[in-house]
Amino acid sequence: MNRAELYAQAMAALRRDRQRAITRAEENKQLAYDRIPRLLVLDNLTIETGLALAKLGAARASAEKLAEKQAALTAIEDERAALLRENGFSSDFLQPKFSCPVCQDTGWDKEKVCGCVQRKIRALRRAELMKSAPLDLCRFDNFDLNRYPDQPIPPARVSARKIMEGNLAYCRQYAAEFSGDCPSLFLSGNAGLGKTHLALAIAGELLAKGVEVLYLSSQTAFGTIERDRYLDGGELLAEMLEAELLILDDLGTECLSPYVSSCIYRLVDSRLNAHKPTIYTSNLQSQKTVNLRYSEKVGSRLFGECEILLFYGEDQRLAHQYAKE
Ligand SMILES: [Zn+2]
Repeated sequence: MNRAELYAQAMAALRRDRQRAITRAEENKQLAYDRIPRLLVLDNLTIETGLALAKLGAARASAEKLAEKQAALTAIEDERAALLRENGFSSDFLQPKFSCPVCQDTGWDKEKVCGCVQRKIRALRRAELMKSAPLDLCRFDNFDLNRYPDQPIPPARVSARKIMEGNLAYCRQYAAEFSGDCPSLFLSGNAGLGKTHLALAIAGELLAKGVEVLYLSSQTAFGTIERDRYLDGGELLAEMLEAELLILDDLGTECLSPYVSSCIYRLVDSRLNAHKPTIYTSNLQSQKTVNLRYSEKVGSRLFGECEILLFYGEDQRLAHQYAKE
């Protein structure tokens, strides 16, 4: 969907919200008026008193007279609220409950488009992007530790399974205690060792809690950003910079151009500076390989400030590196 389509959808959703709130208020009114006939009398009194007040104002009546009518209006309001409460309704039972109190679901805050429209557009875009992620298949409860060898990796005396058990526990806790203060994660290891699975398991838990998660494969994301380089990376780069949690899958598989390389640094750097957690998964397994592919700046920010989780399995190429630490 392009921006105009997203805008139209967001506005349509607001119109539905507004209509729903108004319909609900009318139903509530029917219910309350059936039970409390005095409410209708109070409505008529409000109209009469309001008219009288307007007449006094037009006739430049004394402040005292105006205050008297104003007090009468307030007394009617108070009686209405008291009657509602006595009959078991909330005092705002008759008011429409709009999803956005600023624009009352019209989408307009005076002359300008209300902030809630922007929020709806972002939510729609995220929902569209998340459609491609296999969240249902990748959960914590179906992460199978038995596929990791139980034999110790020499000379570390720790098995891949033990290490993966630790990674699984860490990711579970990360999802359970997620906040803006959480560190960014760099899940590193060979293909097929479950990095994407755990990243998506975190995403699934957080989406259910209402966190704004954006999941993208690095290849697709930077393909789009490269295409939109004359638009400063376009909408997608803006979304990636803003998301509450960004999951960038398979960093290192994107097609690298000087522009993409500069965007990767900008992304890593801005999100760390803004304390917005990011989860990277990558086959790149050392700071040196990251330095070589991108730059030392990217390598030192990623390896200096992310929590690094190393993934092990059947393929033991990492064993040597682990043994050195
Ligand atoms: Zn609004």
